[in-house]
Amino acid sequence: MEIIKLSKDKFADFLASLSEGEQKLYAPQWVGESLRFAPVTDSSKVELGMANTTVPPKSIFFPQTETLYRYELGGTEMQQPQVRDTGVVLGARPCDARALVIVDNLFNWDLEDPYYNEQRVKNTVVGLACNNPCANCFCPSVGGDPASTEGLDVLMTELEDVYLLQPLTEKGQKLCQSVAAVTEKAAAGDQDAAENLHQQAREQVARKIETEGIPENLPKLWENTLWQETANSCLGCGICTFLCPTCHCFDIQDEVEGIEGRRCRMWDSCMFKEYTLHASGHNPRPTRRERTRNRINHKYSYFVDKFDVIACVGCGRCINYCPVNIDILEILQQAKEAL
Ligand code: SF4
Ligand code: SF4
Repeated sequence: MEIIKLSKDKFADFLASLSEGEQKLYAPQWVGESLRFAPVTDSSKVELGMANTTVPPKSIFFPQTETLYRYELGGTEMQQPQVRDTGVVLGARPCDARALVIVDNLFNWDLEDPYYNEQRVKNTVVGLACNNPCANCFCPSVGGDPASTEGLDVLMTELEDVYLLQPLTEKGQKLCQSVAAVTEKAAAGDQDAAENLHQQAREQVARKIETEGIPENLPKLWENTLWQETANSCLGCGICTFLCPTCHCFDIQDEVEGIEGRRCRMWDSCMFKEYTLHASGHNPRPTRRERTRNRINHKYSYFVDKFDVIACVGCGRCINYCPVNIDILEILQQAKEAL
């Protein structure tokens, strides 16, 4: 598939081409103090310069709150929510796109989730290679790369005056054809420049963990003091899970107003006490010690056992945003030393 380039002075036209017709275009934009993927209405608000968004693009595929269906009290029919538009998710970082591939396992395991899968099929993901990984990124340690193509339809690389667009799938190819009026064929030199940037970015990733042996041995530390020591400072706020691109836990609730109701699902977190609270009052994870132990074991052991992949892409968000500086790499390092 032909690699093309987009001159930066045509960026607004490029965005306009991507949002033609019914197609929705999502890109990182500041909403209050958080950078998140939102529908583009003004090209000047699109922010591609940050290493990573606050909220990962999982919010497009697995929204924080989503209506599954509507109903009327006393009725017998479920009114399905509106069919979703096709869309383009522009500027997803390679780690966040890899996270979608990891989460695909979960939403297609015991049943195929129609809501999530519809969004996956209808959206084209245009990634942006990381030229400057953030201080807490560690994607290569968990199978990723600052220019990984996994989960992407197009990989975009920012050069000095242009963006290089490499189509990777049929959907990506179609998207590149749709912007032909504002792009041109890339030169061999552009591709070399992009490859140099990818290599420099790889060398910039400062943090790492050797994961060999962790998945099979982590549960052996069940009674280790590590979990209590970590939990001592944890506030149980759930930020580490809400902002994690691979966290996928949800709750389902009914909201009723008058005689109309909707069944919706919303993000939940295993770091919340109520998450495992039984109706009987029993809670198998009664304290933050058990909940911290579960978060790390789930990502680095249970998920590997079930789907053969670590459920962490090394985006660094849980480290960057934890209000008390709990650091997943430090926990893993301590676990390795204790084994
Ligand atoms: S566990 Fe932390 S570093 Fe890993 S993917 Fe989730 S937020 Fe990113
Ligand atoms: S972000 Fe930090 S304080 Fe909040 S639940 Fe996660 S580990 Fe605990």
